Amino acid sequence: MALAPEDIARVREATDLVALVSEHVALKRQGRRFAGLCPFHQEKTPSFSLNAEDGLYYCFGCQASGDAITFVQQTEGLDFREAVQRLAERAGIQLVDDSRRRSSDSTARLREALSLAVSFYEAQLAATGPGETARSYLHSRGITGELAATFHLGLAPDAWSALAEHLRLPPHLLAQTGLGYVNRAGRVQDSLRARLVFPIFDSGGRPIAFGGRVVPGIGGGGPAQAAAGHTGPGNTSAAPAPAATSAEPKYKNTPETALYQKRRALYGLHLAKDEIVGSGRAVVCEGYTDVLAFFAAGLPAAIATCGTALTEDHLKILGRFAQKVVLSFDADPAGLAAAGRIYEWEQAGGIDLYVASLPAGSDPASLGQEDPTALLQAIESAIPLLGFRIRQTVASHDLRNPEGRAKAATAALVALSQHPSNLVRDEYLMTVADLCHMDPRLLRQELAAIRGRPAAPGRPERTTGAYAVRSTGGQRSASAPHSTQNPRSPDRRVDRSSSQPPAPARQSATPPRRAARDIPEGPFTPGAADRAEMEALRLSVQRPADMAPYLDDVLFVNPFLKDALDLLASHGTLVAAIDAASGVRPDLAGLLTRLDMEETSSDPEGVARKLITAKATGLLSEIATQARRDPGTSGRMSGLSRYIKGILEEMADTGNDKGRLVEVIAAIREIDRELA
Ligand code: ZN
Repeated sequence: MALAPEDIARVREATDLVALVSEHVALKRQGRRFAGLCPFHQEKTPSFSLNAEDGLYYCFGCQASGDAITFVQQTEGLDFREAVQRLAERAGIQLVDDSRRRSSDSTARLREALSLAVSFYEAQLAATGPGETARSYLHSRGITGELAATFHLGLAPDAWSALAEHLRLPPHLLAQTGLGYVNRAGRVQDSLRARLVFPIFDSGGRPIAFGGRVVPGIGGGGPAQAAAGHTGPGNTSAAPAPAATSAEPKYKNTPETALYQKRRALYGLHLAKDEIVGSGRAVVCEGYTDVLAFFAAGLPAAIATCGTALTEDHLKILGRFAQKVVLSFDADPAGLAAAGRIYEWEQAGGIDLYVASLPAGSDPASLGQEDPTALLQAIESAIPLLGFRIRQTVASHDLRNPEGRAKAATAALVALSQHPSNLVRDEYLMTVADLCHMDPRLLRQELAAIRGRPAAPGRPERTTGAYAVRSTGGQRSASAPHSTQNPRSPDRRVDRSSSQPPAPARQSATPPRRAARDIPEGPFTPGAADRAEMEALRLSVQRPADMAPYLDDVLFVNPFLKDALDLLASHGTLVAAIDAASGVRPDLAGLLTRLDMEETSSDPEGVARKLITAKATGLLSEIATQARRDPGTSGRMSGLSRYIKGILEEMADTGNDKGRLVEVIAAIREIDRELA
């Protein structure tokens, strides 16, 4: 379904940008604008500005700019249409599309049931009896009541269908929520029993599924059915219920539903996304308690996959929020999926995968409990995925003898061969050569053999492909290929013709940039000569009627600012102009948004005089040139020159009225045409 333009307009109109942004950062009124700390980059003094009337925001620090829709896109990692839908839901606006409306009715029922389940499980955890056992277990794992509340942890009682009875849903709807099902005996049964419950939310904070963990001391010995007056799932014999015994997995999630797909779900993303966007870095864990450990340690940028290995979809989603993704797994992360595929995803998603340097055998949850500082340090000193795998591979061999070193080198080259970039492979080949004390030329031949095609001996292979070479960080940073100035720019090729040693890799100091946003080449920096043109644009953005009489593109010299003026002039309103530019000329959209934030109290006549003065001065030198080039015109030129000097004198006087300024501009236009 295509979004109707009138729907988009309604959604924009119905959305209070101040309220929306305030869900992420505190805003303070400043004159006619609001100011606050930027949600898109880390800063200590506010450079984020918002104009509530126009519904626009702009950051003077990182140049993030846009309206409510782009704000939702950028903070929630959604595409345009999803963002409009999210805002429509928020504002209670029904988008036109009947099939969607019907399905959204049933979706609303599912959502309601899932929300009720969250409260139900939370109440069980807060209760006495098994709730106390579960709470003391949480306490023993360093999870405070506050943290448990933030993540809405709960407890599934040791009963067959306590939740189903609470929800009172028709069986088919219950099954659609994933919360319960009809068992083989024809009885309704809860999906989770006798487990600590970790609700899984979508990035907008709505529950979509639940993970359950076995808790020591709860269940295990058979369900406490008698207390609930339940005789079991249709089986009246004394057979014990399938309680959470040792045969049951430690972790279990509710099944996939229309709202919950494992390959896309990321536990904790709704809580971590602000930090991830602000820092440009996401931390991926294996377990829910690992996520909690990072939050407890003061790094609320952690998320976890839900009962599955990391998928391409996960990386795509994370790529919308941050460029750097740190894997914080206790096992070899590459063992979780084919490494070769991971590098391709890395490339496709425009992200950089790192591996946290966790002490061997420790997981984030236990390390965080013992030593939170060490946990944070493991993230700070994360190394690139390929570098990690190579070091690990080499370290698993005996390097004291030549045979061991040769085996280590071959194994490392096999790991290396899966990377799609020749440049990256060659970088790491040097690492292997160092670690194994071997001749890089031999290793290149060996690598070429592994990859099944010949390479010119003694020379590194080079491709013409545009593979994005990233800063590799870690110990090899001094000789790592460097990324270009803008780390998110589509072209991140390294200049291979250069014989200069590569610049040091840009590390985490790089401002966070995200794929969801259109990144201008860099902010436009006006020179002294552009000041009057900037001020004229600023006034026409903020007080269009006051500036309109003097706006003539003959007065604009800077081509970029001239484009901005044309854009404004050809659209009725500022918002329409920005809208028109946002897809094709994000640089212009950014400039206009920024001008809207830079509150001005200049007087339009003064600005017009400055523009006229600058243009007239330029014309004088053109006239002189023309007279030199074509002596036949010198009579005419000296007449024009006198006339222009008269204008310049006139402009030095502040007394001239509006009508006169308009006349002068018309005259300048005539002269400009004559000289052209
Ligand atoms: Zn910013």
